[in-house]
Amino acid sequence: MIELPKSVSDFLNEFHTKGFKIYIVGGAVRNLILGEEIDNWDFTTNARPEKIQDMFSDSFYNNDYGTVSIPKGNLIFEVTPFRKEDNYEDHRHPEKIEWAETVEEDLGRRDFTINAIAYDGKQVIDPFSGQKHLKDKLIVAVGDPDRRFREDALRLIRGIRFASQLGFMIEEKTRSSIEKNAKLITKISWERIRDEFFKILSSQHPSEGVLFLRNTGLLTFILPEVDICFTIPQKSPKRHHIYDVGTHLVMALKHCPSKDPITRFATLIHDVGKAKTFRRDDKTGLITFYNHEVVGEKLATQIADRFKLSNKDKDKLVKLVQFHQFTVSEIQTDKAVRRFIRNVGKEYLDDIIDLRFGDRIGSGAKPDSWRFDLFRKRLIEVQKQPFQIKDLKVNGEDVMKILKIKPGPKVGEILKSIFDKVVDGKIKNEKEPLLHYINIMK
Ligand code: ATP
Ligand code: MG
Repeated sequence: MIELPKSVSDFLNEFHTKGFKIYIVGGAVRNLILGEEIDNWDFTTNARPEKIQDMFSDSFYNNDYGTVSIPKGNLIFEVTPFRKEDNYEDHRHPEKIEWAETVEEDLGRRDFTINAIAYDGKQVIDPFSGQKHLKDKLIVAVGDPDRRFREDALRLIRGIRFASQLGFMIEEKTRSSIEKNAKLITKISWERIRDEFFKILSSQHPSEGVLFLRNTGLLTFILPEVDICFTIPQKSPKRHHIYDVGTHLVMALKHCPSKDPITRFATLIHDVGKAKTFRRDDKTGLITFYNHEVVGEKLATQIADRFKLSNKDKDKLVKLVQFHQFTVSEIQTDKAVRRFIRNVGKEYLDDIIDLRFGDRIGSGAKPDSWRFDLFRKRLIEVQKQPFQIKDLKVNGEDVMKILKIKPGPKVGEILKSIFDKVVDGKIKNEKEPLLHYINIMK
């Protein structure tokens, strides 16, 4: 017996008392069985959309999927009548929606066995052994995998998405069918690929997800720039690298502490410029990748456009890749550190530090580095200093009032001299000491 929240059991009862069948399906059942949190409740029923709309006056109806949505507190319950599907002509969408008579038929059109379990509050309907596969941690296609992936090629990447989110393996027949049908992913729009890919990046196991994409051949179509990196060696005399570039990128992603998908994306692609800039010296065997971040910036821009990222996400992705090669040297000047901050932008500093952390650990470095820690502290310290005269904690008004002077170039000169003192670390950028300083100029 699985415990349900009251709002959900009440909801099921409303259908039952009217003589309808209704079942919880999809991710909600999966999470109920796994004992995980549920933020999204999907239901299937033998009631038709008009009937469901009659029952709930605040519902709204989506014609394309036959789904009726009913707001419940801060959640939305989505109810779709039992459906059957066939006639996939374009590997994308069923030709038309037809209602089915039984829940078993509805479950039969679903993608993976762990997503094809239904629960009505009393009974679990599980015709494809989804519960067993949840226990065995396996992604298994419902029915014949080849047929299912040909019907809808988005399922190719969805399978890998669920494996990354749940930490599951993909059952061998399903896996080899993904490999066999990988090319069909090109029939799917980039928006839909992006949404699944971002779920992989945001999941518990993003690096495993990328390796699944690579091992099934999907990466060739989704991110060829990363795929080719697995053929680029970087082990060379006097260099710290232990992996090829592709493996390094995956390891960097694995160790990137940020949960932000764009930061994780940037970490995954930060070295893609290395494929084009690879050079090996014939005599010394030394491998170099001069200006790889410049090429990387160009490729990141292309990738952002292909994935139809928003302008904001694109800006972030490109900047993180473009500036990932920053120095953390303790002998650089404050001015150099400030230039770095200006280039990357204050809002992305934590993200580029996270990228760099993943980069280091993903090259086989130890997690702690005094130099890296010192640089982080310095970023904070340097930001406490004003960057511009307008960041000073005093302004022209203060200068004119204390020194009893009129507006004019003199005010600017005095502010500039205060600014220089602060930049040189001679006075703190705080109101009291600055006012005191102006006072002694009287
Ligand atoms: P989550 O919402 O946590 O991402 P979910 O399993 O609920 O996971 P959804 O994309 O919301 O995933 O889909 C709900 C259910 O609809 C799935 O569990 C699956 O049964 C079915 N489904 C969704 N997309 C497809 C598809 N392309 N082919 C077949 N069945 C699908
Ligand atoms: Mg869902």
